Amino acid sequence: MNIALVAHDVHKNLLVDFVIAYRHIFQKHQLFATGTTGRRISEAAKLDVIRLRSGPLGGDQQIGAMIAMDDIDMLIFFRDPISALGHEPDITALLRLCDVQRIPLATNVATAEMLIRAMENGFLSWREEIHKYETAKLNGTEHI
Ligand code: PGA
Repeated sequence: MNIALVAHDVHKNLLVDFVIAYRHIFQKHQLFATGTTGRRISEAAKLDVIRLRSGPLGGDQQIGAMIAMDDIDMLIFFRDPISALGHEPDITALLRLCDVQRIPLATNVATAEMLIRAMENGFLSWREEIHKYETAKLNGTEHI
């Protein structure tokens, strides 16, 4: 599965701790993250992370574009629910695209824990079917 990870500054430590706690699961998947979040995770958890731009510099939009193409299977986004951030429109757009594409989304650690455990137990295997369908569509064989 392709998992996207984003944390605003107040929650970066929490996300790093979360990834370390579930490292045995995360290591089986492809991780994507906004710039600073990705650096913190790869350094602390020693995992390969494909790093995009920093959130305020377009990283949220990069993840959004991947979601629009159905290339992301889950988004864990520990956002700051208290402070107003300059790139709020990007954040709103990213969350909206998750709903448009029906992408499992966790915006806090309690939900993230449930999603990760659900994925480990096969409850997100329907995403594999989506990938097969998307590939068939690209090949023009989706009706076969
Ligand atoms: P960052 O971006 O991982 O580069 O900090 C996340 C954000 O703050 O939107």
